Amino acid sequence: MSRYLRPDYQTLQVYTPGEQPHDRKYIKLNTNESPYPPAPSVLSAVVSEVQNLNLYSDPNCEALRKAVAQRYDVEADQVFLSNGSDDILNFAFMAFAGRGGKAYFPDVTYGFYKVFAELHGVHYETIPLKDDFTLCVDDYRGHDGLIVIANPNAPTGLALGLDEIKTLLRDHPQNVVVIDEAYIDFGATSCTRLIDTYSNLLVVQTFSKSCSLAGARLGFALGSKELIDDLNRIKFSTNPYNVNRMTMAAGIAALSEQSYYDECCRSIIEARKHTIAELRKLHFDVTDSLGNFVFAQSHILDGTVIYQKLRDRGILVRHFDGTRVSPYNRITIGTPEQMEALLSALKEILEE
Ligand code: PMP
Repeated sequence: MSRYLRPDYQTLQVYTPGEQPHDRKYIKLNTNESPYPPAPSVLSAVVSEVQNLNLYSDPNCEALRKAVAQRYDVEADQVFLSNGSDDILNFAFMAFAGRGGKAYFPDVTYGFYKVFAELHGVHYETIPLKDDFTLCVDDYRGHDGLIVIANPNAPTGLALGLDEIKTLLRDHPQNVVVIDEAYIDFGATSCTRLIDTYSNLLVVQTFSKSCSLAGARLGFALGSKELIDDLNRIKFSTNPYNVNRMTMAAGIAALSEQSYYDECCRSIIEARKHTIAELRKLHFDVTDSLGNFVFAQSHILDGTVIYQKLRDRGILVRHFDGTRVSPYNRITIGTPEQMEALLSALKEILEE
């Protein structure tokens, strides 16, 4: 760090992304990527867009916005697109909280929320989940500020129902409620259809997980035209071209491949069910995850030990520090073969 860095950034605790090591070939179950490639038409769409790379991308993302709007049955001006959903979450902290503003989110959730809050000088408070990691929306009552909820939550995979989200929205008419639906396509109920009724709702989704496009960096938000305008003010004050041409082409092509991606999600959900059942047979405590990952604790070995022993065997999972989560590991659902490799490695480790 240089002495020139502004003082409040010198103490910033940055987000630690899941490791991407290159020392050997790993079975990567640590960053919730899809194990399946993008649909073949996505590849050809990207390749044919390359010839236009001398030209800037469309800052309004017109074609992709229309395609997203059609897919989710909303108006194009209720759609915002950006460079991954992290970008949108960052904008949401800037737009709807900012320096001196307030934000509330669970104590166990996506680690980037507190980084964004700190980056923008937002006073944040974490609201503890119950002992079983479930979220009680009444615990947010009386708190005045931006509310950010991942649904399903990460790393637990536990999801709220529509009625609970409606309660949050009704309890906080003066505040923006961000529902981060990064993992929604793996079995939970989306609240996108509530955006016409609740002007304080911003739903954030991503092409990274269910559309196998993590490397393309494409996220979107759905909300009232006013909230979308607010996000655009920030985007047009930072980087109007933050969705590049190849990603835009990939997104449009992906949206026309619904049956391919439905099938990918179905396979992941099947593999998740099987993995949860098998882990429970091995006496793991596993949450009822509706994400493309499971969150599991062994009663025999500590989370760090399991993480390390799997890593030694060429299998990467995600371990988080923190009293409530460190006994656990978050394991991304891969192909059935990858999950078999994981399960037999775990059996071996537990028998050692
Ligand atoms: N929200 C949650 C809950 C996540 O786990 C992730 C992925 N790390 C994101 C948002 C960001 O996804 P992306 O930026 O790839 O769209």
